[in-house]
Amino acid sequence: MNKKRIYLFGNGKAEGKADMKNLLGGKGANLAEMNLVGVPVPPGFTITTEVCTEYNQFGKEKIMELLKSEITGAIQNIENIIGSKFGDKENPCLVSVRSGARVSMPGMMDTVLNLGLNDDAVEGLAKKSNNPRFAWDSYRRFVQMYGDVVLGMKPASKEETDPFEKIIDEIKEAKNIVNDTELATEDLQELVKRFKKAIKEVTGSDFPEDPWTQLWGAICAVFDSWNTERAIYYRQLNRIPGDWGTAVNVQAMVYGNMGNNSATGVAFTRDAATGEDMFNGEYLINAQGEDVVAGIRTPQQITLIGSRRWAELAKVSEEDRAAKYPSLEETMPPIYKELCVIETKLENHYKDMQDLEFTIQDGKLWLLQTRSGKRTGVAMVKMAIDMLEEGLIDEKTALLRVEPNKLDELLHPVFDAAAIKKALVVAKGLPASPGAATGQLVFFADEAEKWAKDKKKVVLARIETSPEDLRGMNVSEGILTARGGMTSHAAVVARGMGKCCVSGAGSIRINYKERTLTSDGQVFHEGDWISLNGSTGEVYKGKVDTKNPELSGDFGKLMSLCDKYTVMKVRTNADTPNDSKVARGFGAQGIGLCRTEHMFFEGDRIKAVREMILAKDETGRRVALKKLLPIQRSDFEGIFDAMQGLPVTVRLLDPPLHEFVPHDEKGQQEMAEEMHISLNEVKARVESLAEFNPMLGHRGCRLGNTYPEITEMQTRAIIEAALNLKAKGIQAIPEIMIPLIGTVEEFKMQEDIIRQTAQKVFDERNEIIDFLVGTMIEIPRAALTAAEVAKHAEFFSFGTNDLTQMTFGYSRDDAGKFLPIYLAKGILKEDPFQVLDQVGVGQLVEMGTKNGRSSRPNLKVGICGEHGGEPKSVMFCHRVGMNYVSCSPYRVPIARLAAAQAAII
Ligand code: PEP
Ligand code: MG
Repeated sequence: MNKKRIYLFGNGKAEGKADMKNLLGGKGANLAEMNLVGVPVPPGFTITTEVCTEYNQFGKEKIMELLKSEITGAIQNIENIIGSKFGDKENPCLVSVRSGARVSMPGMMDTVLNLGLNDDAVEGLAKKSNNPRFAWDSYRRFVQMYGDVVLGMKPASKEETDPFEKIIDEIKEAKNIVNDTELATEDLQELVKRFKKAIKEVTGSDFPEDPWTQLWGAICAVFDSWNTERAIYYRQLNRIPGDWGTAVNVQAMVYGNMGNNSATGVAFTRDAATGEDMFNGEYLINAQGEDVVAGIRTPQQITLIGSRRWAELAKVSEEDRAAKYPSLEETMPPIYKELCVIETKLENHYKDMQDLEFTIQDGKLWLLQTRSGKRTGVAMVKMAIDMLEEGLIDEKTALLRVEPNKLDELLHPVFDAAAIKKALVVAKGLPASPGAATGQLVFFADEAEKWAKDKKKVVLARIETSPEDLRGMNVSEGILTARGGMTSHAAVVARGMGKCCVSGAGSIRINYKERTLTSDGQVFHEGDWISLNGSTGEVYKGKVDTKNPELSGDFGKLMSLCDKYTVMKVRTNADTPNDSKVARGFGAQGIGLCRTEHMFFEGDRIKAVREMILAKDETGRRVALKKLLPIQRSDFEGIFDAMQGLPVTVRLLDPPLHEFVPHDEKGQQEMAEEMHISLNEVKARVESLAEFNPMLGHRGCRLGNTYPEITEMQTRAIIEAALNLKAKGIQAIPEIMIPLIGTVEEFKMQEDIIRQTAQKVFDERNEIIDFLVGTMIEIPRAALTAAEVAKHAEFFSFGTNDLTQMTFGYSRDDAGKFLPIYLAKGILKEDPFQVLDQVGVGQLVEMGTKNGRSSRPNLKVGICGEHGGEPKSVMFCHRVGMNYVSCSPYRVPIARLAAAQAAII
């Protein structure tokens, strides 16, 4: 069967279109679409992502055989449109070969430019451009890029130097030249000669002069770059499946480095950092695309207003700005106008903020890429609400535009206003990615990783960053660069990661050898504390205090919009009045899990808890429990008060008792004195509590069923607290939850104790309140017998932490030893303790819900494992018909958005 593997585009026609991203990759699909909407795009073709998969399966030879005739035709199509010939001595057709996955992976995969040049074609290019220096510079760039990318000569580590850079340095030294731009045509010719010699020496083969050989080499290299270590890491970080593959885009070259009437740049239709509706971007005159992102030259702003803002931040006078760094609006007004028309057209067409790449070749504008631009969480929310209010998108689209996990960035601390006033500003750069970061200075990405492993907070400072720095950037609190603009690698990647970043802080000098950063005469060493404000670009000396952000404005509007569409409620997991208040501030509609044991560790109470555990009989336990009762009661009062009439699910004691007793001699001695018993008695009791497998041992309802007096005390504390609040006119809605049941009998026995104790308190007080008794479903057997359990339990809450542990048979405490390896090897696609395993554990959840409701149709069902705040898992909970999800306070907004999105799609 003849499968279509190549899609052509050019001259206002295209075989693909925007919605074919899965097959053509993001870049390919949009190149096709731009042709269809009448935007000038150099002609070319896209090899599909499916070919990448075939390539990985069958290898190079087979792929060449499969693609041969289609590729020949596709190159001819480019030749016909631009009227040149591949490898021609007079009028050569040159192409770029670029990767393009379904979702963008900036800088992760390979690119080859100027392909098609050889000793003949370079003459043709020199003639055609009337610029031999340009032709030879393109040729030496091509040989270098080809050697690095296709022939594998790129150094593997940062200690090695690029063999081509070494040759350039040698020539520069011999000629006493500082900048590459000073190299004359003869020098560039010499470079090409030496580069080719180096290729022969290292690879044993000649540099391929045949453009077809060059093309196949580059296509395969792009496919290979899908599986480099850094691409794999990026995919893991962003949860991109390894089997998607990359497409390859082959496109006629256009040149931004053909002289002063040429330029190259990138632009955003709105501000990617703040969300402001302001066209912005950067460009460089007489440069090639990679120069803008590489941060080697200081890029200029596209708009005049942007240029003036930049100058203010960079402390450049208006005179200097206009003379040295003018905007595109000033240097090439007609092109600027054309670009403005195109940016509006593309944003209106895609109905989203676009990130554009363009090149101006000898006064003609070409678009090389458009895609929905990456943006910070703040910008994401602002753009969604703005576009809704502008009428560009509807409410549902606005809700779907915001990635729930990105809201996390809005919930992070910001600098305390008072602290920032006192802070000493030591440098100023560009506000590349907002947020507040405080940490110890490190200068290398691998050092950042090491320090972060030791639980140190670090700020990574680099002259500029590259894709090799990705891991280090990811573990840092913030990133500071000396060079590079708003579209530099550091800025783009930091925004994608939601990390605070200040880029292009021109006044700082970084010395990697000495490991120092100098600014205005102040020297900072590795390990010194430094703070970054990603929203203003300011860099401060030392630590600066942070505070919680205020959620209003667009964020508030987004949350209200969520409430309009959501079906499920979102509760929180909170054990203290303060956590409860924070969660309510984020819109939690109740507490889904209050882990009572967490209160045991505060202040002096652990002594009473230990006394209860170490007591030798029931009488001893009751004495200690009596001390605990008022403490627990007042804790519950605080929580009920904070929740003001919203339901509060209180879980009875769950962890194994040995977790509470002292294991060190000092602590044991203290307990012996407290209880007037010998140290040996304490030791013996501690030993008797030891278990081989505590997670499956004496915990959960097994404690309450063996020591019913614990359940009695906790129930009394809950009911008395609720009655005390009622007396003050505050409603409390307790839902008492029994943990870790596997059989209905375990539940019934606990339920009896709870109901009898509550009745006793009601009788004593001559007052009643409503309360529910329900259970956690966290043991597979409980899920399997849900119909029976629900005859007695008034609600279910899926404890998916334990349910995952017991369904997979992976210990929650020990899985860290093998899970990362399982993920790296692809045995598991995701960590099941983070993302609910819908296929396996999910079956138990779905069945438990359905069967539970078969015997109690109005059974209230929720989830309180970690998955309750994870967007994909929240969507699953909606599908199985849960009433609520419960998650930690800071994840409440994320869950609210995910719940609303689940209701829409
Ligand atoms: C659970 O098991 O999912 C749960 C919420 O309880 P814990 O994490 O306290 O065991
Ligand atoms: Mg549990």
